[in-house]
This record gives sequence, C-alpha cells and structure tokens, in this order.
Amino acid sequence: MSSSSNPTSAAYAQAVKELGLKQNIAKALEIPDRELTVEVPFRKDDGEIKSVIGFRVQHNNTRGPFKGGIRYHQHVDIEEVRSLATLMTWKTSLLDIPYGGGKGGIGIDPSKYSKTELERMSRRFFRAIDPIIGINVDIPAPDVNTNAQVMSWFMDEYSQLHGYSPAIVTGKPLELGGSAGREAATGRGTAVITRETADKWNIPLNNSKVVIQGFGNVGSYAAKFLHEYGCKIIAVSDVSGGLYDPNGLDIPSLFDYNYEHRTINGFDQGKKISNDELLALECDFLIPAALGSAINETNVDSLNCKVIIEAANGPVTGPAANKLWDRKIGIIPDILTNAGGVTVSYFEWVQNLQQFKWTEKDVNKKLEEKMIHAFNEVFELKKNKQVPMRIASFMVAIDRVHKAYNLREG
Ligand code: NAD
Repeated sequence: MSSSSNPTSAAYAQAVKELGLKQNIAKALEIPDRELTVEVPFRKDDGEIKSVIGFRVQHNNTRGPFKGGIRYHQHVDIEEVRSLATLMTWKTSLLDIPYGGGKGGIGIDPSKYSKTELERMSRRFFRAIDPIIGINVDIPAPDVNTNAQVMSWFMDEYSQLHGYSPAIVTGKPLELGGSAGREAATGRGTAVITRETADKWNIPLNNSKVVIQGFGNVGSYAAKFLHEYGCKIIAVSDVSGGLYDPNGLDIPSLFDYNYEHRTINGFDQGKKISNDELLALECDFLIPAALGSAINETNVDSLNCKVIIEAANGPVTGPAANKLWDRKIGIIPDILTNAGGVTVSYFEWVQNLQQFKWTEKDVNKKLEEKMIHAFNEVFELKKNKQVPMRIASFMVAIDRVHKAYNLREG
C-alpha cells in the first residue's frame, strides 16, 4: 500500500505536523526498535521437513513491553508485520496502556496444515523468537488465524524453558489464566464508542439505525451490545452476503444462530442483500467489522450514513476518508474503536502478574472506563484543533510516546 493510500502513514504524517514535532524525532519514532526474521523448520505428518519464515517486529517500548498479536496468513511479510507493529504502539498509547507495540507472523495458509503440523510449527516458531520475548519484554497474543489453542502451546513452550509463565502471552483459555470478558471485549468496546459518538454527534441512540459489515467476533458482539442499548440493527453481513430488515433484525436469535453455524447464511429473517447494497443503506452508524480497505474509492460515493465506526483494522482507505471528510461524514478510527481487545489483553497480563482473577463485571467496568476516557480525550482535541477524529487519535498517541521518549532520552 502506498503511503498516500495507507490511512495510518497519512494520519501519522498529519498528526506529526499538527503537533509540530521535529522531523528527526518523527523519524526516530517511526523506525522499529528491532526486527527478527527466523527460519521455522518443522516435521509434516508425512515425515518430510518443511521450512517456513516467521517474523517478530518490536516497534517501540518507550512506555512498556512490546505488545501485539501473531498472525498466520499467506500474505504475511515483513512490511505488513512492521506496519501492524507500529499501529500497536499508537493503539496502546492512545488507551494509555503501559505497553509499546509489536507484531509477529508466519507467511503460511494455515488451512493447508493439520492441527499437529500447526502445533509443531508454532512451538518451533516460539523457540526461535524466545531470545527476544519475555513477560516484561514482549508479550504476544492471537491475531488472524491464531487462537487460544495456539497461545496455550506458546505459553507451554515458554514455561518449559523459563518456569510457569502465564503472563508471556494473552488471549489464553480461561483454564490457563485467560481473562473473563476477553472474547467479547473488542465488540463491547466498539459498542461503547458508538454510544459515546451518538451522544457527541447528537444522534439519539434509542432506535438509531445501525448497519454492520462482518458478523465474526467483533461484529456479532458489537451488534449484541448495541441491540441491548436500544439501537435498531437494520442490516448485517458476512462473507456469504447480507440480511436487511428496516424494522430491525432479531439480534439475540441471529447471534445464537451465528454462534452455532459460524455464518448468518440460512437465518430465516430479513431480505438477502449484497455487501455492496449493505454499504449503501441509509443509516446513522455504519460499522465495518470485516476487512481492511472495505470502503474505498469504488464505493465511497454510495455511502449513506452519518458516522462510520471503524471496528476492523483500516477499513476506510485514505482517499475515501478525505471524500467522507468533505461530505461531513464522521469517522471514528480503528485505533480507538477496536482497542477493547488489547485493553482486556492488558487486564489479562495484570491478573497473571498478580496471580489473581478479576470478575467479568470488574473487567467490563474497567474496560468501559478506559474506552470512555480515551474517547473524550480524542474528542476534546478534535474540537480544539478542528481536525478529524483519526488525526486527533494519532496526536494523543504520538504525543504520549514522544513525552516519554524525551524523558528517557533527554
Ligand atoms: P472474524 O474472523 O471473527 O470475523 C470476520 C467476519 O468478516 C466474518 O463474519 C466473515 O464472514 C466476514 N467477512 C469476511 N470477508 C468478508 C467480505 N468480503 N464481506 C463481508 N464480510 C466478510 O474476525 P474478527 O476477530 O471479528 O475481526 C474483524 C476485524 O476486526 C479484522 O479487521 C480484525 O483485524 C479487527 N480486529 C479484531 C480484534 C479482535 O479482538 N477480534 C481486535 C482488533 C481488531
């Protein structure tokens, strides 16, 4: 992605300008601290050895240990991992979580491997990055195509080398020190941010019309909580297509159906629509919760919403965002909206270090407080500086890292 179409680099450049940061400092904060590329050989079920390449990028640890997920996907390469690691630095800073940013991954299509092959590969990868991780150094987590099982293997591998260490990864199963509330955290955070946006944009939340693209972990939980707040979820979609009911879909039933079938396809309410038709629906809040670049120059002019709540990472391209700004359609950026996941990951780590479990009620309350605080900080800056929410978010995040950097380097 070129820097002009990549919303993150464009936002970084504009935020740096607004903050009046010197170019040498802006450059220093952009360069990753460390990048590790490793060979990961593992035995396949047929007895043959297969070698794949893995990465761990540690972008910045000025404010705390590196933090970020590990992704298994055929598109993973060093550039993608670097850009995701950088985003984590700004996300943890924006939420004022005492972490930096990191990311890792292996460039494979995991659907082509058996569970035992994935286990051998994961364990070998973790051994390969062991020299640069640690419970106060770098704490991995799940990302695309990795899950609580993969985190259990990682935790087990690290514990064999260093002694029982649940705090080495987050996103673990509850039985191994995972946190209550983690599964729903990103969707819950998205719903909280939508509610706060409704208040500031003077859109009555009750009966407000919501459209959600993507009904996986994030989209389905966001729908569930927004429905509980009284919103009317008029359309949702997944990779199989969309469902539309102008009177509002029966979200509790759809949530259960999707939980069981892992798709909304076959649910017996609502008119079938395409993903393109869904994006063009007239609504108050459009929540892209599926893919990056879902809203781009080919479809941005068809949008008919008041505010976009970016639940996915990078769902609106830079040029599309500029057009939306001209049309006065608000965008609440990903680093704010979907930060509920990393926030509860942080809570999981804190509980592991304390060797003490919090209740789900405690976790949810602390999550809400963090999200609301960050939202208000960004909104105040947006108002004072007359900049979009994305730029204000990056300004808050960069400023916090910059101040810590000055204190440590000065
Ligand atoms: P998921 O795999 O659980 O769900 C993805 C959903 O998107 C599924 O319903 C899938 O069918 C749908 N989808 C895929 N392709 C689509 C298409 N072409 N059109 C419409 N729908 C499509 O993933 P998730 O965990 O819900 O993550 C969704 C997004 O949120 C991703 O961008 C992810 O990076 C981001 N995110 C997730 C978390 C988290 O904690 N899960 C945290 C931060 C950011």
